[in-house]
Amino acid sequence: MIAYRLVQAQEPPRLEDVPRPSPGPGQLLVKVGGCGLCHTDLGLMKRTRAEWLDTPPPLTLGHEIAGWVAQTGQGVVGFKRGEPVAVVPVWGSCGHCPACRRGEENFCYYISRLIGAGVGFDGGLAEYVLVEARFVVPMGDFDPVLAAPLTDAGLTTYTAIKPALPALVPGSTAVVIGVGGLGLLGVQFLRTLSGARVIAVDNDKAHLELAKAHGADIALSSDTSTAEQIRDITSGAGASFVLDCVGAESTLKTGVAALARLGRLTLVGAALKTIPFGLHEVPWGAQLTTSLNGGTLNLREIIDLARIGRIETIVDRYPLSHVADAYRDLADGKLRGRAVCIPEAVGQMS
Ligand code: NAD
Ligand code: ZN
Ligand code: ZN
Repeated sequence: MIAYRLVQAQEPPRLEDVPRPSPGPGQLLVKVGGCGLCHTDLGLMKRTRAEWLDTPPPLTLGHEIAGWVAQTGQGVVGFKRGEPVAVVPVWGSCGHCPACRRGEENFCYYISRLIGAGVGFDGGLAEYVLVEARFVVPMGDFDPVLAAPLTDAGLTTYTAIKPALPALVPGSTAVVIGVGGLGLLGVQFLRTLSGARVIAVDNDKAHLELAKAHGADIALSSDTSTAEQIRDITSGAGASFVLDCVGAESTLKTGVAALARLGRLTLVGAALKTIPFGLHEVPWGAQLTTSLNGGTLNLREIIDLARIGRIETIVDRYPLSHVADAYRDLADGKLRGRAVCIPEAVGQMS
């Protein structure tokens, strides 16, 4: 089968012909219907050999995976061949701690570092991918191409937003900074699940337009006056919730400056910058949190939201053979929504 492989650290990945894997006990072989591209992959391509620690390349990239069950391994029950499924990207969780038992495997007490599809294991930029059955969510008749971005861009933002929802009553304000692949879904979750006014912030005009078309009440360009504009819009109170999908020093500063007392700022963007935390540095009573991807419970919930048409994945489709062009367009900021690569031989399984 064809797979897009990072063969050596810091070398450009390439399409290779590799053997189709077969599922061992507890595993499923998934025929890939679509695999979304994430900004995080661009960082993985730059990782040095030392940064990969004990899980170095070669490996197949791609962690936003949906498709159809092609084969079940020994002991797997509850899945049938041809059934559409989505895959959570974070693997390596223990399966028995309270977080795992709640379906929040991303917060497993015992994961020591991030491994999963396309990071330590072969990912979904291939015709088939091998997955442990417990990381797979059935999704009725939902289209895998539309589901793929939900497994990471959707799951990450939903998992970050869900704990903030009780405070997002009518009259409150929620801000999403960076409305690309992740943020455009974040805006939609806030719009459909809360009564808050939704403000989108970005430095790309096209993305701000898309955010307005998909539920943002207000779109602001990202600069040094953004926080002040949010304060003005909220009559000085600030935003009850800020979701930072960038993580630059400037966006973190904007987020804290725009945050209301008792507000909540959640960082998911991976620019890896920091800001000071102290009694006079953040609004009184504010919660500053981070979040990483999500688990099987939340993936089920967002697939259900998508199936009833309450959120829309905005997809830029690329054949798997053009995956390098798709990554270039992602790096150059040329995408409209989320790039999803589709294996050429794809088609609903009988
Ligand atoms: P993307 O490239 O699709 O979108 C990024 C958006 O941010 C773009 O619209 C861009 O114009 C905007 N932007 C960039 N700099 C900005 C600034 N200074 N102010 C305002 N807007 C700015 O990327 P993506 O795939 O949506 O990923 C977003 C970030 O989230 C990346 O850092 C990625 O690594 C990270 N990520 C984190 C998790 C997690 O679990 N925490 C999961 C997936 C992705
Ligand atoms: Zn990702
Ligand atoms: Zn666990």
